Amino acid sequence: MKLTYLLKCGELVLKGLNRRTFEDVMLAQLRTRLSSLGKFDIKAAQSTVYITPEQDIDEITAAEVLTRLQKLFGVVSVCVSYGAEKNMESIFEVARKYIAPELFACSTFKVEARRSDKKFPFNSPQICRDVGEVLLESCPHLTVDVHEPDAVVNVEVRETAAYLHIGSLPGAGGMPTGTGGKAGLLLSGGIDSPVAGWLMAKRGVKLVGIHFFSPPYTSDRAREKVIDLAKILSSYVGEFPVLIVPFTKIQELIRENCPEEYFTLIMRRMMMRIAQKLAFHNKCRALVTGESLGQVASQTMDALCSTDAVVDKMPVFRPLIGLDKEEIVRYSRKIGAFETSILPYEDCCTVFTPKHPKTRPQISELEKAEACLDVDALVKEAIEGTEKVIVCDFSI
Ligand code: ATP
Ligand code: MG
Repeated sequence: MKLTYLLKCGELVLKGLNRRTFEDVMLAQLRTRLSSLGKFDIKAAQSTVYITPEQDIDEITAAEVLTRLQKLFGVVSVCVSYGAEKNMESIFEVARKYIAPELFACSTFKVEARRSDKKFPFNSPQICRDVGEVLLESCPHLTVDVHEPDAVVNVEVRETAAYLHIGSLPGAGGMPTGTGGKAGLLLSGGIDSPVAGWLMAKRGVKLVGIHFFSPPYTSDRAREKVIDLAKILSSYVGEFPVLIVPFTKIQELIRENCPEEYFTLIMRRMMMRIAQKLAFHNKCRALVTGESLGQVASQTMDALCSTDAVVDKMPVFRPLIGLDKEEIVRYSRKIGAFETSILPYEDCCTVFTPKHPKTRPQISELEKAEACLDVDALVKEAIEGTEKVIVCDFSI
């Protein structure tokens, strides 16, 4: 009788011949994220992953294991189950010893049974009835309610063992990290870009963060905040490189030489040019930003066209394009980034903002406005000054 976490995998099941590859990627990630918490026996069968600790684990570790499993992309749900041998006596014993104590706070329950091993000599209704009786004996305060029970006790009779658990917890869903390609995420310290990164990562995209910073206009605290946000993302995706790009000189040159109404857009175009090159060097096939249509002057449709115009080798994904701020905030809270995102440190985007930014820019006007800049040399210099920080923190 052993504590076993059952992970149910969602879309992986649909991947036909590629399923094994997807599963292998996920299992490797699972091993990495659990490795600091002890030794675990991990195996996959029938679109379920079985994780059994090979030593006793205390409550704090058990909670940490659960959180780490729930954050793994590719997992739809996590069940904390107890394994029994495939005979009714053993199933009853697990029900008495491990399931009954968890029902103390409930008034009603029902049992649901599933047999994937059809050779098991008892059918599902028999299993439900007998396990139900055992639980009623152990917990006389309980009654059965098949319509709206406080708790559903599941008994799953599988190939090598039977597993008992009460309900399941949601997993992160999506696809295993890396199976959807690799993209450069323009990561600011705000609310939007971490959410944009998370949504793409959920579809299996491996991320490389790209952050522009402008000291002394932006502080070390602002830089640390971005690293903290990257750590939060890494608790879902594992190892996460962040490229920190010096941007002060470019911003100063824009301020000194370009028309004010175009400051932000010229800056965004410079960011995109640099990001595309860095992404390319890091084998990324796309860029990701946290832009949402109409949120600010630089995110009107014309403004987005003007920033897209400088990216010619890869698509720019904007997963938040159709979301309202409220919806983005909901995601931000859900992924645990919100409290960090709202810390009040300046981002380079808020330095030198024009009083009256152009909301309907013409690309030709922008090209004229930035003609005074030696774009190629500035892009090259920024890339040469870029520093790489690799973060990986599963414990957040
Ligand atoms: P966020 O909450 O992500 O900061 P925002 O609403 O503040 O978004 P903008 O400041 O206009 O919007 O930035 C739009 C997008 O540009 C961001 O979502 C991000 O992808 C990118 N971006 C902005 N500032 C930076 C930066 N300093 N480094 C890297 N990318 C940035
Ligand atoms: Mg921002």
